[in-house]
Amino acid sequence: MRYILSLFLVFSSYLSAQNPYPQDYFSNPLDIPLVLSGTFAELRSNHFHSGLDIKTQQRTGLKVKASASGFVSRIKVSHYGYGKALYITHPNGYTTVYAHLQKFSPDIEAYVKKHQYKNESYEIELFPKAENLPIQKDSLIAYSGNSGGSGGPHLHYEIRDKQERPINPMLFGIDIKDSVNPIITSIYVYPLDNNSFVNSSNSKQKIRLTPLKNGDYTTENIEAIGNIGFAVGTFDRQDLAANSNGVYNIQTFYNGTRNFEIDFKRFAFSETKHINQLIDYEHFATKRQRIQKLFRKNNPLSILKPALNEGVLNIKDSTYSVYKIRVADYKNNESWVTIHIKGAKNKSLKQEPAKITPYFVNSSQTTHLKEGIVSVDFYKDTFYEDFYIDFEVKNDTLKLHEDVKAAKKNFNITFDVSKYSIEDRNSLYIAKLLGDNKYPAYTSTKRKDHLLIARTKKLGTYALSMDTVSPTISAKNFKDKQWLSNFRYLKVKIDDQESGISNYRATVNGKWILMEYDYKTKTLTHDFNDNVITDTKNNLKVIVTDNVGNNSTFETLFYRK
Ligand SMILES: [Zn+2]
Repeated sequence: MRYILSLFLVFSSYLSAQNPYPQDYFSNPLDIPLVLSGTFAELRSNHFHSGLDIKTQQRTGLKVKASASGFVSRIKVSHYGYGKALYITHPNGYTTVYAHLQKFSPDIEAYVKKHQYKNESYEIELFPKAENLPIQKDSLIAYSGNSGGSGGPHLHYEIRDKQERPINPMLFGIDIKDSVNPIITSIYVYPLDNNSFVNSSNSKQKIRLTPLKNGDYTTENIEAIGNIGFAVGTFDRQDLAANSNGVYNIQTFYNGTRNFEIDFKRFAFSETKHINQLIDYEHFATKRQRIQKLFRKNNPLSILKPALNEGVLNIKDSTYSVYKIRVADYKNNESWVTIHIKGAKNKSLKQEPAKITPYFVNSSQTTHLKEGIVSVDFYKDTFYEDFYIDFEVKNDTLKLHEDVKAAKKNFNITFDVSKYSIEDRNSLYIAKLLGDNKYPAYTSTKRKDHLLIARTKKLGTYALSMDTVSPTISAKNFKDKQWLSNFRYLKVKIDDQESGISNYRATVNGKWILMEYDYKTKTLTHDFNDNVITDTKNNLKVIVTDNVGNNSTFETLFYRK
């Protein structure tokens, strides 16, 4: 038995040491050297980054080439998110993804436009068959851009497996120059239950970090008792750019034994939301810094690897322990933090009382809260933990705690608006009040008779808000009755002050024309090269509708020869 077991161990460690991904199969999708503004699985809002962000020298319009042969299996064009995105499936089963594109290569662009005109929609999602758009390795597929939710020109590049799980593209042999150790920015320590204390306190403590000459770190010594866990703030930087990117692997060691690991190799989109349980969500909500917990607490994330006691340290009285954190980048540059822990049952313990309110959320049950015109419904398993919740309704404003608890499911906030006239009801929407000046941000609102219902994952303050102002529409690069014969583009500016733009429709002489909407510049753009505007005298009509249904119509004439 012992023999078989040890053989198995040798075999499995041999397997895990091998990189199972094909090397040098996928080539650089750009003609310029790879420089990254974002790494795989780095921490983003409500998700892990699913690919590499490749810098494009602050420019758009760079040629994007297929990383390998295959066929275009999916095309998605959306106002937000990936913007214009292309998916190529390869014979080895992997799919590469190219996003935030400016436009597609001519043949793909023609294919997309045909469907956009047929569906009369800029936003579109297509799943071409293998024979429709076959692709050769290194052939032009698109031009890089800044479309969708991109904050600056770059190419978002992904490699997914057959199950649509994104994998760290670096594992396929992509080489990025990196000789710099990851930077550690902060260390925190948490007492994890009622009988646990750190430095005589039962609340989270920041511990002082000291960089050493060799690039590693040490901290002030701590005194603790009971179950404790740590969190680390860290980022990595590659040689050719100043961007703060994500790290590749984090391990911790308790008296020499590995007790936790975060391994950023692959994840599933269905689990990416649990990032809010990996980071200290309250810390992020209040300080805008993402620190990663080095212990597993109600977190199913597959990037968390099983290890001794799931990262929790049980500190006993009159003991001495050494805790080490190792943070590494893909090139195995590593930074170590060493923390000395004295186990001591202290005399004067500061126990901050938990905040108690009349309302308690038991995460394993449904919770229904109601007061005045508002009700809130949490389904079971909405939160990672049980907690006393602040719940207060004043007139048309709901205070639903602060946005300091991560939810893994949407919940419903319902306002009964029967006290309003039918006419007013149509202008009402549910807004999340943001910041100190309580700026009302539209929250997707459904209407059901006299009820307005918002589905959201965010706690915070919500209020009924009224939008009676219609969107604004104006010509951006031309004037009424102007001759536009030499123009390549027709640009119209659209905006909405309150609830925001829901949809738009543009026609010329009654015929639908494709106008691309860029929400960042509030611009609709038509390309005359679509060759759908063939008359000399053209009546452009643009209708824009906001999220409560107010609409505006803009009409103008232009001429072309
Ligand atoms: Zn990206």
